[in-house]
Amino acid sequence: MLEVQDLRVYYKSILGDYKSVDGVSLSVNRGEIFGIAGESGCGKSTLVDGVLRLIRPPGYIKSGKVLFEGVDLLSLDESGLNKIRWSKISYIPQGSMNSLNPVLTIEEQATDTLIEHSNLTKNDAKKAIEEKLRVVGLPREVLRSYPHELSGGMRQRVIIAIAIALNPSLVVADEPITALDVVVQKSLLSLLKELRDKYGVTLIFVSHDMAAHAQLVDKLAIMYAGKVVEIASTQDIFYNPLHPYTKLLIASIPRLEKKEIKGIPGIAPSPLNWPKGCRFHTRCPWAMEVCSTIEPEMLKVNGGRMVACHLYQNGGEKY
Ligand code: SF4
Repeated sequence: MLEVQDLRVYYKSILGDYKSVDGVSLSVNRGEIFGIAGESGCGKSTLVDGVLRLIRPPGYIKSGKVLFEGVDLLSLDESGLNKIRWSKISYIPQGSMNSLNPVLTIEEQATDTLIEHSNLTKNDAKKAIEEKLRVVGLPREVLRSYPHELSGGMRQRVIIAIAIALNPSLVVADEPITALDVVVQKSLLSLLKELRDKYGVTLIFVSHDMAAHAQLVDKLAIMYAGKVVEIASTQDIFYNPLHPYTKLLIASIPRLEKKEIKGIPGIAPSPLNWPKGCRFHTRCPWAMEVCSTIEPEMLKVNGGRMVACHLYQNGGEKY
């Protein structure tokens, strides 16, 4: 359904370009829940903003292709993009529960959005949003409410209802459960899963929360320093991680039986000046000489998994 090819998204600054997303390739299959994980600042949100053409100056798309059902989104003009947005691809932005307009009722802002992106009349737009409020477990009375009259969890459900109101085939959700309490997080994860299982929505789920990925997604891309370093099924990522960064990320998840919590040593490098060679070599306990000079390519290993690390350069066999 979606194929991202060598996408680069940079931000201009007086010090030079911040290479936030620097050559990402991945593909998402129809009906899949595809997760994107990695620590803060690794480029997750910039990646989805780039895919959806939401980058604003000083950011710009340096190069790459984003093929959605065979059409390159990066080559479309605004009117072409508008036809796809919301009706085929919709977006739940980071902090979206706070993005509702405080002086409009839910009905006013939801119907405005739907009318802008479809041929629906006001009445039909109202019926469409009523139907989707039911899907996300909210009563139709919510339409008469202002955002401040709803809890955080209810506002996030409203956002999801608006996002699916025109039956898009792809929904991109950027940190949709962050800043909510764990009970609300759990119910929202169940709701997102239901959207795929019952309504066939393909979902891209961006989060730094590995526990959320474990519960929800089918396939997971791990990002580090503006690049994807590993892509595999969620089960493989959690039970048999290959890339050293993924291994350390999984090892740093707190568990009840663990006495101490281990972090990843060192700090992430700056997008202004990525290290030469493998970008993880300054923090990697397995680093070899080659790692500081040659950047590892993304390779297919062990029956279709993808990993970018010199440890796996010989057809998937470890050195
Ligand atoms: Fe570590 Fe080298 Fe693999 Fe990079 S390429 S993750 S430095 S072993």
